[in-house]
Amino acid sequence: MKQLALVIDLNVCVGCHACVTSCKEWNTSGPAGFLADRNPYDADPSGTFFNRVQTFEIGAYPKTETVHFPKSCLHCEDPPCVPVCPTGASYKRAQDGIVLVDYDKCIGCKYCSWACPYGARELDQNQRVMKKCTLCVDRIYDESLPQSERKPACVLACPTTARLFGDVNDPDSVVSVAIRENGGYQLMPEWGTNPANHYLPRRKTQISIHEDELIRVDNPLKKERQLPMPGSEEQTLDDITSW
Ligand code: SF4
Ligand code: SF4
Ligand code: SF4
Repeated sequence: MKQLALVIDLNVCVGCHACVTSCKEWNTSGPAGFLADRNPYDADPSGTFFNRVQTFEIGAYPKTETVHFPKSCLHCEDPPCVPVCPTGASYKRAQDGIVLVDYDKCIGCKYCSWACPYGARELDQNQRVMKKCTLCVDRIYDESLPQSERKPACVLACPTTARLFGDVNDPDSVVSVAIRENGGYQLMPEWGTNPANHYLPRRKTQISIHEDELIRVDNPLKKERQLPMPGSEEQTLDDITSW
């Protein structure tokens, strides 16, 4: 069965929050656009976000490292948030494995958010319905968009291409290859939820970036040449000085 998912590379995530704001803008854009729903400019902003980046420090001083950890619904293959729903609003699609909430059926009881071990669901205080990542289901199948843009907003926005998107049950997909080749892992597998989303660990190696995501609107000179990796044999002095 097809199972769409995100694979997030913790090795290259820089905690910039571009995925957070692009998600907010696309999915729950409120009065302040990509900012929080309430008090967006005050000391205590709050509101519904489908995707959040948690930043923490690991290790013992002075040998510490900062880790940025983006987290959203993991589209579990055995999602405990589905059977607890008393109205059938919380469901998993058979055709692509995306876990969704039917807002017309949701009564805001929060059973599903208590059942989710990842804290991935948030009640929209304005609409009084439960919300969470939809993998941008309303754009990934939109045939009016170019194929390269039929991806979740966060994937398109990430400046370091830390976010990959695809079918984790297709062994040849970009996500399956990345998981296989880089030691990708599931978050808290002991809960038996079998999350579809995976994380790539921090490591010394780097994965290559997507060619189709190098095309950026903020590229006034329209230079699309991909530089060789710093320090690689292909890199020349001209590469270093011409940009
Ligand atoms: S991460 Fe939470 S909300 Fe998402 S499918 Fe799994 S249990 Fe449900
Ligand atoms: S909050 Fe909505 S989706 Fe969640 S269990 Fe209750 S009715 Fe179902
Ligand atoms: S946009 Fe990419 S680099 Fe920035 S926080 Fe999100 S995953 Fe990390």
